[in-house]
Amino acid sequence: MSEQPMNEHSGPAPRQGTVGVAVGKPGLGGVVVGGDAPVVVQSMTNTDTADIEATVAQVAALARAGSEIVRITVDRDEAAAAVPHIRDRLVLRGVNVPLVGDFHYIGHKLLREHPACAEALDKYRINPGNVGFREKRDLQFGAMIEAALEYDKPVRIGVNWGSLDQELLTRLMDENAAAPAPMSARAVMHEAIVQSALLSAERAEQIGMGRDRIILSAKVSQVQDLIAVYRMLSRRGAYALHLGLTEAGMGSKGIVASTAGMAVLLQEGIGDTIRVSLTPEPGGDRTTEVQVAQEMLQAMGLRTFVPVVTACPGCGRTTSTVFQELASDIQDFIRVEMPVWREKYPGVETMNVAVMGCIVNGPGESKHADIGISLPGTGETPAAPVFIDGKKALTLRGPAIAADFKALVIDYIERRFGEAPDGVRSADAAE
Ligand code: SF4
Repeated sequence: MSEQPMNEHSGPAPRQGTVGVAVGKPGLGGVVVGGDAPVVVQSMTNTDTADIEATVAQVAALARAGSEIVRITVDRDEAAAAVPHIRDRLVLRGVNVPLVGDFHYIGHKLLREHPACAEALDKYRINPGNVGFREKRDLQFGAMIEAALEYDKPVRIGVNWGSLDQELLTRLMDENAAAPAPMSARAVMHEAIVQSALLSAERAEQIGMGRDRIILSAKVSQVQDLIAVYRMLSRRGAYALHLGLTEAGMGSKGIVASTAGMAVLLQEGIGDTIRVSLTPEPGGDRTTEVQVAQEMLQAMGLRTFVPVVTACPGCGRTTSTVFQELASDIQDFIRVEMPVWREKYPGVETMNVAVMGCIVNGPGESKHADIGISLPGTGETPAAPVFIDGKKALTLRGPAIAADFKALVIDYIERRFGEAPDGVRSADAAE
């Protein structure tokens, strides 16, 4: 049997050429979405924006978790009035993450009547499906674009299939019914979603907005629809694209569906910023959506955010839960400490830690990691060899193996990524 040829195209396709859009102030937390910029992670609060304290706390938590843009709902006067105070309090806390206002129905009015809100936001999200109906639609959409031009803010034209422009959909359905070879209703819906985004972007450009100020999204709730719609959008324009599966759901269902859809598109070079729309468990942690987005990009090799913990799944050879507890402990420890480490230990996000359950794959996998431990499996000598930079460094024994290994990880980070007293990075000094 002949060998399979190596796939020359292993790895994601080059990013589709989109026009970069600056969001926020450069050097003050601002990011670029699209162009050559790395795929940006973003999230959205679920607090009442009029509740300034709760919203500030959640924006800060999302930013600390790694969200590079945070969207907040601006649904009424009280929310719009709160926005500048939210911005000020975040700045006082040293949180400069760009804030996006999510507007529906009365965005034109809120932006006009709350200039401090219009100024404090870094981007406006406009949903062309509910910006107004009939003759009011163009007027109100135009008013929002004019506000964005006046305050020099970019916009996201965010179509959502749940609030799709019904007049456009009806027209396309009628045209399709009269066509000699009608498309499926699903295909017409895809076309309506794409046209809604592109026609709105065209209208914004006619009013005077540059392409470098427009991001598009077209969110649907089914994975195959998402892939189809974004492929169409990507083929038919060079606008920066915001990816996200809407109403993805809770827990593993939401994570898997979002990842399945977005990973296919990202692999094809489609997508400049992502949001994972998870429904949190009651009282759950909103920052999970940021963690999932980061892990998706990191698993695909598109970005590096946190050190990787490689852990085996465990099997019948595992005598206890020690290795599961250690893997989980190390992973949690890394995630909690990362906001500080990011500043203190530049490059630490590239580190790889292995926590393995027995001798079968333990030593081999640990040698490939920067630091790894191979715990004893059933019937093995109760000793855990530790490998550092590919070499066996020492063997841990006794009841404190987990604590001892954690201390070794901290020591490794300090030595490799910490700053020496003379200001030289330890890693630099060693080279
Ligand atoms: S490394 Fe050992 S314990 Fe872990 S899955 Fe493989 S055989 Fe099982």
